[in-house]
Amino acid sequence: MGGTMHDFVIVGGGTAGWMAAAALARFLPRERSVALVESDAIGTVGVGEATIPQIRLFNQSLGIDDAELIRQTNGTIKLGIEFVDWSQNGSRYYHAFGTIGRRLGLVPFHHYWLRHQAQQPDADLWAFSTSALAAGANRFAPDQGRPDLPTGLAWAFQFDAALYAAFLRSYAEGRGVRRTEGRVADIRHDGASGLIQAVQLDDGRSIAGRFFIDCTGFASMLLGGKLGVGFDDWSRWLPCDRALAVQCEGVRPLTPYTRATARVAGWQWRIPLQHRTGNGLVYSSAHMDDQQAADTLLTNLDGRPLSQPRPLRFRAGRRRRAWVGNCLALGLAAGFLEPLESTSIHLIQSGIARLLELLPAADVAPALAAEYNRQTEREWQAVRDFLILHYHANDRPEPFWAERRSTPLPDRLQHRIDLFRATGQIARDPDDLFTEVAWLQVMVGQGIVPARHHPLANAPTPAELAEFLALARRHSAATVDRMPSHEAFLAALETPA
Ligand SMILES: Cc1cc2nc3c(=O)[nH]c(=O)nc-3n(C[C@H](O)[C@H](O)[C@H](O)COP(=O)(O)OP(=O)(O)OC[C@H]3O[C@@H](n4cnc5c(N)ncnc54)[C@H](O)[C@@H]3O)c2cc1C
Repeated sequence: MGGTMHDFVIVGGGTAGWMAAAALARFLPRERSVALVESDAIGTVGVGEATIPQIRLFNQSLGIDDAELIRQTNGTIKLGIEFVDWSQNGSRYYHAFGTIGRRLGLVPFHHYWLRHQAQQPDADLWAFSTSALAAGANRFAPDQGRPDLPTGLAWAFQFDAALYAAFLRSYAEGRGVRRTEGRVADIRHDGASGLIQAVQLDDGRSIAGRFFIDCTGFASMLLGGKLGVGFDDWSRWLPCDRALAVQCEGVRPLTPYTRATARVAGWQWRIPLQHRTGNGLVYSSAHMDDQQAADTLLTNLDGRPLSQPRPLRFRAGRRRRAWVGNCLALGLAAGFLEPLESTSIHLIQSGIARLLELLPAADVAPALAAEYNRQTEREWQAVRDFLILHYHANDRPEPFWAERRSTPLPDRLQHRIDLFRATGQIARDPDDLFTEVAWLQVMVGQGIVPARHHPLANAPTPAELAEFLALARRHSAATVDRMPSHEAFLAALETPA
């Protein structure tokens, strides 16, 4: 390995490292070489099982279809997240993927629903979401391809993260990525140019490269460690700093969604896979001790635990710059946002897409890094604000939740809430990962009630409005009625025709 100079050196082989390796192997010209170094002794973070629909695009770009992915990773379908007890004990709502209802004229659907709801306070927003209805009925089948009659269905996966990384590893190695097992002990850096030259392993080997991708997880060895890039701490808004993760035996029926249940000082996830269920409690150590956290988690499992709960520690926030000189960080090395909306794997994916878009040539133009960092900052901030919304708009009694209500919000988020509350309008930026419908569901679900709807939604007569809504509701319900159960859908994938 001594003399080889690689074009890309990826340090770390968790989900971030192997996603980057697979994408570079797929898209780089053949003559450009990619190396990856990882340490089995250090291992990976071992969580990260729920995704959002964009992951399908990543897999498709690699030529991996949904069925293969599900088979390789013991995966299940995820139609959204069910939020239980968030606005208050006993409350429940979905953030379901895809669209809700249908746009009419210039006005988004939810303004018609708001108009209707003013007369019928029980009118359920999610009765118009095919994904939410399918989730509630434990059914699934992909859209049957009627472009004239879109159902608005969208889905992602829940999968075994270790199997996903292993799958991508064989994909990447099969396309020429050179893997080295070993522990990086030092990083060779040229003070004059500011460029990293090589990573040094503890057995003396070194791996030299032109561009380095730091995928070392929370250690952030290159970007945070060697280059000393500071951390923007967001814990004043997102104070949860610990998690306990445990797998338990699966139960039937196999639900096609992730569940997030609010607890005294945090929340608990439940992610059903084919062979087991992943669970974890995310909590604030200032408000809950570890024993209380373990008790809360273990008394709220729906099957026998398969191991002891595993503790994890973190801090919400991100490295101020993700790309410095010839080093870019992806995954936990770039920052951490709690898994409330399953966004971490997506942020890896979009980081990779952005790298490919702004791919450096032999020498790295600093303007590329500046543009990458500008886009990345806005993307992370928008995701951060979406998470804060879940915590802020609550009516729960505990001190942890009262503090979340009273903590001043980032300006942009405060504006979004004010606008929605006053007018039902949803302010969305081009860099937003989450759609208008995603913001809508969480705002409504968390109990934010708009004072009015868009004036143009008054255009249909009451009879026309009733017919429009009834049709939309019937269309979603009929679509779901035609679907097999989630389990039957998965079973059919195991025995392809
Ligand atoms: C509690 C929790 C729950 C989560 N749930 C979700 C979820 O549901 N959905 C989601 O999208 N994301 C989730 N995430 C985030 C997700 O787990 C990560 O984004 C994802 O696994 C990527 O991790 P990584 O590859 O950056 O780091 P890691 O998995 O930690 O990998 C780091 C790699 O670097 C290597 N390494 C480190 N130091 C050295 C060294 N000195 N020498 C050599 N190699 C080294 C390690 O061996 C390893 O291969 C969750 C995170 C946490 C903490």
